[in-house]
Amino acid sequence: MTPRTPVIEQFSRLSPASRLALAVFRVRAAERPAGIPGSLFLGLTSRCSLACLHCKYRGGAGASDLPYGLALGALREAAALGVPKAVFFGGEPLLYPRLAELAGAARDLGLFTELDTNGQELTAGRARALARAGLSSVMVSLHSPSPAEHDRLCGRGTFRRAARALAAALNAGLVTYVSSCVFAAGPGARELRGLLAFARSSGAHGARFLPYSPRAGASRLPAALAAALRREDPAGFAGTCLARGRSGCAAQRADILYLGSSGDLRACPYAMASLGSFPRCTLAAALRRSGRPARGPVRPCQKRA
Ligand code: SF4
Repeated sequence: MTPRTPVIEQFSRLSPASRLALAVFRVRAAERPAGIPGSLFLGLTSRCSLACLHCKYRGGAGASDLPYGLALGALREAAALGVPKAVFFGGEPLLYPRLAELAGAARDLGLFTELDTNGQELTAGRARALARAGLSSVMVSLHSPSPAEHDRLCGRGTFRRAARALAAALNAGLVTYVSSCVFAAGPGARELRGLLAFARSSGAHGARFLPYSPRAGASRLPAALAAALRREDPAGFAGTCLARGRSGCAAQRADILYLGSSGDLRACPYAMASLGSFPRCTLAAALRRSGRPARGPVRPCQKRA
């Protein structure tokens, strides 16, 4: 779920602010107390500018934004617990009216700040403004190295705009990743190789590959994807839900915590089961509930509550 933290020295294009934020993040991540996740994902809104064919949220009933006060409260508790990173997630978080303000608040709390976006509205000016406000990193969704295939999944012109967003984030000096849903990781791994090649050639600092899972039942894809990455990407440019040398996926290890726009807390944005409703259920209480044994092939995103 989390890409490997890039080595700062490799990235001359990072702004001084992003370099500093990354250095602080690395220290805070290494020193975080046991049982504290590396990232708090905030599902700022269920609204989206796209309706991708594979999206879990596609066609969901009603649209909601996470109230700003709740988002701020969650960031404060996360910082106090020692969580080192806040990820602004959606829907499409660029549609959240107070995104820049929230990024500044998170930065002031000492959190590394990351935006997980489809990139359609991330112009050069918007990327620079968000960087000035306190954003340190951007993940741009790009689901195929083929423009035609990406546009088939996400809509006409979306590949071109996502590629523009990657360039905008890099030019704004932000830590920049490609984020892709992977649908198959068979022995040929052609699509995976293509995605890796595209992400590297785009100048991105890394990639995150999410195994696309059915809504119920077990899937071997998370394990197959992790195995394919060990083969195709021994240097660890890309990360996925199952980390090298660790058991269970990021959600099973309680390495992430997700707060959705309706206040529901989950072990992962894609987990089926709710851990409680914030703020009645605090982040600390949700973490106590999410610490499950990391065994078995059925991941939290594959099992109905
Ligand atoms: S629950 Fe699913 S999407 Fe979330 S970290 Fe685990 S395998 Fe990945």
